[in-house]
Amino acid sequence: MVPDAAGAGLTSQRARDRLVRLLEGQGIRDPRVLEVMRTLPRHLFVEEALRHRAYENTALPIGHRQTISQPFIVARMTEALLEGGPLRTVLEVGTGSGYQAAVLAQLVDRVYSVERIQALSRNARELLSRLGINNVNLRHSDGGEGWPERAPFDGIILTAAPREVPEALLTQLAPGGRLVAPVESGGGRQQLVRYTRTEEAFVRDILDAVLFVPMLPGAEQ
Ligand code: SAH
Repeated sequence: MVPDAAGAGLTSQRARDRLVRLLEGQGIRDPRVLEVMRTLPRHLFVEEALRHRAYENTALPIGHRQTISQPFIVARMTEALLEGGPLRTVLEVGTGSGYQAAVLAQLVDRVYSVERIQALSRNARELLSRLGINNVNLRHSDGGEGWPERAPFDGIILTAAPREVPEALLTQLAPGGRLVAPVESGGGRQQLVRYTRTEEAFVRDILDAVLFVPMLPGAEQ
């Protein structure tokens, strides 16, 4: 039983069902992604004062000037990552609240997630363990360097926007793997980009216009 589910239970389930219908209406098709979003308690990943807004389709603050991504974007990126075959391992850059990692944890064998702000990484670790999610490995470090000791990854997802996808991350992608990232495209705009690694090269597709917090260099305490 998920903590707090008794109190928020029914309302949350109804609110989640409503959110999932909205996501379907916006074009999310993958039934596995929709099912995970129907069941995962997003309200536990936001501050208590914002819980009543957890099932709105909006990004919300999580402290340290960071945000939990909009549900539509979480669904879209997860779908884009899964398209093209099953993934065993996924690296996430930007753990934040841990919500995206928790979504992925239901869909792939193992998630590795790095976060540059120690307090966020620590909170996410505690929450994921409380939820009994034990196939996520977290690390407090600069995600621009990836996680070389655990590479290669079948999938890589960035939830903060770099100016360009760091070379180190592309090299940690396994052949056949996909990397999905918001990338600066000039004038304060960002595009969601997917790189697919083939045996010889990277194929780059542009998916949507998006708006993420910037990817920052270095880790802070
Ligand atoms: N995936 C998160 C969204 C978090 S917002 C969620 O589901 O809640 C993006 C996160 O990326 C922030 O927590 C920010 O601190 C982190 N971040 C930014 N630059 C980073 C970097 N270079 N390495 C690791 N994390 C980074």
